[in-house]
Amino acid sequence: MDPDNAYDTGAVATIWREGKPVFDRGETVCVIGAGASGLVAIKNLKEHGFGVDCFERETSIGGAWNWRNDRSPVYGSTHLISSKPFTQYPDFPMPDAWPDYPHHSQFLAYLEQYTDHFDLRSQIWFGSEVVRAEPAEDGFWDVTTRVGRNGAERTARYAGLVVANGHNWSPKFPEYAGIDGFKGEIIHASAYKEAAQLRGRRVLVIGAGNTGCDIAVEAAQQATRCWHSTRRGYWYAPKYVMGRPADQVNDLVLGLRLPLWLRQWLFHRTLKMTVGDLTRFGLPKPDHRVYETHPIANSQLVYYVGHGAITPVPDVVRFTRTGVEFADGRTAEPDLVILATGYLPRFEFLSPDLLNVDAEGRPRLYLHAFSPAYPTLAVAGLLQPDSAVFSLVHWQTVAIAKWLRLRESAPDRAESFWRRHHRDVSGRFNPAKVKQSTRHWFEISHTVYLRALERAMREMEAGQ
Ligand SMILES: Cc1cc2nc3c(=O)[nH]c(=O)nc-3n(C[C@H](O)[C@H](O)[C@H](O)COP(=O)(O)OP(=O)(O)OC[C@H]3O[C@@H](n4cnc5c(N)ncnc54)[C@H](O)[C@@H]3O)c2cc1C
Repeated sequence: MDPDNAYDTGAVATIWREGKPVFDRGETVCVIGAGASGLVAIKNLKEHGFGVDCFERETSIGGAWNWRNDRSPVYGSTHLISSKPFTQYPDFPMPDAWPDYPHHSQFLAYLEQYTDHFDLRSQIWFGSEVVRAEPAEDGFWDVTTRVGRNGAERTARYAGLVVANGHNWSPKFPEYAGIDGFKGEIIHASAYKEAAQLRGRRVLVIGAGNTGCDIAVEAAQQATRCWHSTRRGYWYAPKYVMGRPADQVNDLVLGLRLPLWLRQWLFHRTLKMTVGDLTRFGLPKPDHRVYETHPIANSQLVYYVGHGAITPVPDVVRFTRTGVEFADGRTAEPDLVILATGYLPRFEFLSPDLLNVDAEGRPRLYLHAFSPAYPTLAVAGLLQPDSAVFSLVHWQTVAIAKWLRLRESAPDRAESFWRRHHRDVSGRFNPAKVKQSTRHWFEISHTVYLRALERAMREMEAGQ
């Protein structure tokens, strides 16, 4: 779409606000971001009859999965952590010939095919960054975009706003005593792109998320030395159990509707038989049961610890000029430290109260999606599931589309639905006692979450 001409087409009126033009897009809904969540949002809004304008700051689709994007967190060896059937959108399967865990470049190709199949490109304004989104009267939104870094700003008015700006691009940097005086190199995992960065180096990887474990495994093969620092012991689940992708086996067990304690017991037994006793490898004993932290799927980490290529170490207490001291008194002298310490959600274009952001910076939303402050504001993809996020965002954006439609077609019923639910922002969609940390802000069990979404949609549909 040509950003200079698009506002001149269709039945677009111009409103004046504080001396500046606001292009009225009528009942059109605005989507921010054309990553995996934004794309499915456009598709589902279109299928529910809405006009959609999507703004994407990059010049192509794919978000995190587009390695060309400067904010993409993927590295050369990134493969999906979730297996194919759980990763694909429910109405667009991945090719049968693809492996269980496709490479990131395949997943980008999949998103491109999805975009073309559902003809989504004509809705997307590429190279357009949303710099401000402000509520206007009657639930409308004034969205201000800038084309390019120094381009002119334009404001358009929309009937609804769906934010799909991703939550894996703004690095979280922990604070350590002495870090400023350290003479080695420190990078965040978002700046790690290829194994050559590790070759011949003495590498310390901090963090045991899936990215931290992947990088530690790569350092085990490329670096002269690799330390892996974790705050606690974790359960390292293999990617395959009984020859099947582990998430598929887990889902079979979930389908039996066994109580949580029994599923945890089964999982512990399976890990004992496949991975074995972690402490034998010198790894710390997990201080929690499975499902109480975000699952780590990595068949190689324990293997490389067992081969002496990764030295597990506890939390870093302080940096010195030449190295680090760990909580157990050990020291190391790495020349490269990789902070695989995760990401924080950021919504620079929205005032925090609009997303009910708490003192820690965590948005508190109904179903992790609907703003309790503004019924026409929703976020797509702000989820950290025990399986893949994409099929969940599909249903989440169906719910958003249904909700916006209900407001239009049956305002009284919409009002009563809203009164009943909008304050329910506890965000608990997980029967397990999930650890309290920023990493687990949006941690959900996919079955619990899907059931909650289904209930909400049924309630919206009742009587229609
Ligand atoms: C290394 C790694 C591996 C992962 N593996 C998996 C996996 O196997 N399975 C899984 O389910 N999940 C995985 N994830 C989670 C991943 O975040 C999601 O898969 C997915 O990328 C989320 O899509 P999204 O559209 O919500 O966000 P993103 O992919 O981040 O897309 C957001 C889009 O919004 C755009 N944008 C942001 N701000 C603005 C603005 N102000 N104006 C205009 N455009 C804007 C961005 O340019 C971007 O294109 C992984 C994450 C990482 C970091």
